[in-house]
Amino acid sequence: LGTLYIVATPIGNLADISQRALDILASVDVIACEDTRHTKKLMSAFSISNKTLSLHDHNERQKQDYVASLLQEGKNIALVSDAGTPLISDPGFHLVRHCRSLGLKVSPVPGACAAISALSVAGLPTDRFSFEGFLPSKSGARKTVLQSLEHEVRTMVFYDAPRRAIDTVKDIVETLGGNRYVVIARELTKTFETIYSDMAENLLTWLEQDPNQLKGEMVLIIEGYKADVNEISPQAIATLKLLLAEMK
Ligand code: SAM
Repeated sequence: LGTLYIVATPIGNLADISQRALDILASVDVIACEDTRHTKKLMSAFSISNKTLSLHDHNERQKQDYVASLLQEGKNIALVSDAGTPLISDPGFHLVRHCRSLGLKVSPVPGACAAISALSVAGLPTDRFSFEGFLPSKSGARKTVLQSLEHEVRTMVFYDAPRRAIDTVKDIVETLGGNRYVVIARELTKTFETIYSDMAENLLTWLEQDPNQLKGEMVLIIEGYKADVNEISPQAIATLKLLLAEMK
C-alpha cells in the first residue's frame, strides 16, 4: 500500500520548505494540488518535475475514491495546498478522513502554518489557544461570531483579509471592547512582514493612518477574556439568583 503524505509548503518565503518536503515532492508518484498552476511554480523553483492532479474544495469528494485507489495500488501521493499546511483552512479533510477510514497510511510532512507562525510572535499566552479559522466577511455575521467568543479565556487566532481589517477591528471594539489586546501579523515571512499589537481602539487608529496595512495576508490574534476583578462572575450571579429565590 502507498502513503498519502500531507506536505506543508511555504507561506511566503520559499526557503521555508523543508528538505523532507522537497524529497517527497520529487519522489511521490503524483502530487495532489489545490491549484496545479500555483504548485508548478513552487516545483519549478526547486527544479522538481512530477505529475500533478487537482484536488480542491469543489472536487475533493469526487477525487477521493480515485486517490484511494492509487494508494491501494501501492502509489505514493503528496497532498499540498497553495500555502502552508494542508487542511488548515484548506482542502484535504475529506480525503484524509476517507483514506484513514480505509486503513490507508496518512503521514504528515510538517512545515509552515500562518496561524502557528503568528502565535509564535504575538506575545500572548500560547499554553491554550483556539484556532477560529476565517472570520465571516459580513459585519453582522462577524459580530455574532465575536460576541459568542466574548468570554473565551483562550487566545483566539483568526484568518482575515487585511482589506477588511478596519471593519473587523471596529467590530472587535464594539463586541469585545476597545481595551481588548489584539495582534495583527501581516505578510509573515515576506518583504513587508509586519507584526503590530495594541488595544483594539489604538489598533484602529493605526490602521486608519496607514493604508499599506490593508494589503496582503494577515492573521489576527485576540487576547482571551480576563475577568475584571471588580466584575461579578456569571457563576456568582447565578448562585446569588438561586439564593434570592430561596429567600422569597
Ligand atoms: N493552510 C494555510 C496555513 O497553514 O496557514 C492557510 C490557508 S488559508 C486559505 C490562507 C490564510 O492564511 C490567509 O488569508 C491569511 O489569513 C493566512 N496567511 C497565509 N499566509 C500568510 C502570511 N504570509 N502572513 C499572514 N497570514 C497568512
